[in-house]
Amino acid sequence: SLLLATGGLTLVWALLETTYRMAYYDELTGLPGRRALNEALLRVGSRYAVAMVDVDHFKRLNDVFGHDVGDQALRMVAGRLSRITGGGKAFRHGGEEFVVLFTRATAAEALPHLEAVRRAIADASFILRGPRRPRKKPPTPKPARGPQVTVALTVSIGLAEPDQRKGNASPQQVLRAADKALYRAKGAGRNRLMV
Ligand code: GH3
Ligand code: MG
Ligand code: MG
Repeated sequence: SLLLATGGLTLVWALLETTYRMAYYDELTGLPGRRALNEALLRVGSRYAVAMVDVDHFKRLNDVFGHDVGDQALRMVAGRLSRITGGGKAFRHGGEEFVVLFTRATAAEALPHLEAVRRAIADASFILRGPRRPRKKPPTPKPARGPQVTVALTVSIGLAEPDQRKGNASPQQVLRAADKALYRAKGAGRNRLMV
């Protein structure tokens, strides 16, 4: 009966773990999702910064190259955002929108780290995965055959921090302010960051 009990517990544990992963992590990118973000926002102190990151002209990429290529692009952007420096943590907010939360930095401190990622994304030639390009990089990559298609891929970023005078006191208000800054970055020509 001890064996049965341990087996049962293991099963319950596995079930809980799967449920947790499904609720908190986005399947496509592996990043924590909206629910995880909302919980993280509840735990912020008085010093933090929120960045809203949105892929530029993403609809066009989907329309021209197809949804699978769009998904590849999202994974690439997510990968770069997840490796951001300066203590930022990346979330998938939904669709082609991401949020980077800095829980101990001001907007001014977070800015250079976001700019570095924005530039890295713009500089990386996004090579389309041909039918024979493996999903994971093999230990000894074979040189690609045939013409390679590279696609320009950029993101725009809106950055905000709590600011009583601007009426941005709660994390949700700061998130909205970041979204407004993002909207201005789009209007100003995209592939840029606005505070
Ligand atoms: P802007 O530069 O103004 O942001 O233009 P945009 O085309 O990126 O913005 P828009 O909001 O018009 O289009 C977003 C597109 O993102 C539309 C939708 O089909 C696509 N999309 C959302 N989620 C996914 C996804 O998980 N995978 C793929 N491939 N496409 C997605
Ligand atoms: Mg969008
Ligand atoms: Mg977009």
